[in-house]
Amino acid sequence: MGKVLIIGAGGVATVAAVKVAKNADVFSEIMIASRTKSKCDAIAQYIKEQGIRSDIKTAQVDADEIPQLVALFNEFKPDLVMNLALPYQDLTIMEACLQTGCNYLDTANYEPKDEAHFEYSWQWAYRERFEKAGLCAILGCGFDPGVTSIFTAYAAKHHFDEIQYLDIVDCNAGNHHKAFATNFNPEINIREITQKGLYYENGKYIETEPMEIHKTLNYPNVGPRESYLLHHEEIESLVINYPTIKRARFWMTFGQQYLTYLDVIQNIGMSRIDEITYRAPKADGSGMEDVKIVPLQFLKAVLPNPQELGENYDGETSIGCRIRGLRDGKEHTYYVYNNCSHQAAYEETGMQGVSYTTGVPACIGARMFMLGLWNKPGVHNVEEFDPDPFMEELNKQGLLWHELHDVDLEL
Ligand code: NDP
Repeated sequence: MGKVLIIGAGGVATVAAVKVAKNADVFSEIMIASRTKSKCDAIAQYIKEQGIRSDIKTAQVDADEIPQLVALFNEFKPDLVMNLALPYQDLTIMEACLQTGCNYLDTANYEPKDEAHFEYSWQWAYRERFEKAGLCAILGCGFDPGVTSIFTAYAAKHHFDEIQYLDIVDCNAGNHHKAFATNFNPEINIREITQKGLYYENGKYIETEPMEIHKTLNYPNVGPRESYLLHHEEIESLVINYPTIKRARFWMTFGQQYLTYLDVIQNIGMSRIDEITYRAPKADGSGMEDVKIVPLQFLKAVLPNPQELGENYDGETSIGCRIRGLRDGKEHTYYVYNNCSHQAAYEETGMQGVSYTTGVPACIGARMFMLGLWNKPGVHNVEEFDPDPFMEELNKQGLLWHELHDVDLEL
């Protein structure tokens, strides 16, 4: 058993906290700490009202500030820190873990605030320091990255001698009945999907214009959905850890209305991440002043909060891996996937399916760590651990998975 500290109090952190609280056999003490303490208190209260657990501690912390993190870690002394705040905080939290002897887990790789660009190099640079300290960092333990990487590891372990073609397919066939909303933090989400597309083929990365490549794919229990090739972070580590891969791509579905809104947002400059200045009346009424804002951060403030989408969300997500490769010299195909109902997620945790499919794997990763099944010094992507106990837990903790063998992958 061990002590866990969850940083962040958004949709993903809420789901992870509920699930961690339900796994009382491995988590002896739980603390939730975030920028806004009242949000941590609300999560602890929800968990108490559900009759799950009433001893969750909360705290205020600015995770951009290493000294604040260090003070908090020294006071609570967690065995594992789960970073469920934003990717901007990955490095400060990893640094504080090293200074205080804590292990680390996250769901998204680092990106700097002033550049919409994500890659693992910044976090992989910490490998030697974690190794020397005898500490473990588990990177990318949500659904994608996370479960999709573990699905790939499971396929490599049980179904293929050689994985050659990997397509990760992410479909959200749910409807939140809002004109436009993102399913997780709007700032991070819009930065991700307005980037150029990128995929891996024959040892090289190939760049595409945003949303340039798309195809209709059929998803189990959902049907056909237009799916767009995006740059996604798990490809970067998977092609290194499975060097037989000849081509790796990531696809995500978007509805036409969503894409139209996104186009408008980009064309009118609201997705900009640089600071702009505008003239606004002074608060004391004594004239005008220059005010600085980052348009995308302002947009986040007026868009629906992903945490509040759950109540009216219907439909389901369907995320999986479509893999082609060799076994005993013969070509085989394999499709492993999970479908998650937004309503079922909401009924269990108060959050919608996208927060659920991220928070549950984060909890399972923490469980794997506490049980000693996933714990080795260094900085590791999830596919570097044994997938079997994790896959077993997915079925027990609300994310059932299914397999199809030798089917048409459409890709
Ligand atoms: P939210 O915006 O709902 O929540 C983010 C939380 O982090 C908020 O509570 C926010 O505080 C807190 N936070 C932000 N900055 C700081 C800071 N400096 N110090 C302390 N706390 C801070 O995001 P989500 O819950 O939707 O997403 C959380 C993470 O999950 C993101 O990193 C996202 O990229 C990742 N994700 C991963 C997925 C995967 O499958 N791997 C899928 C979906 C999301 P405040 O409330 O005060 O703003």
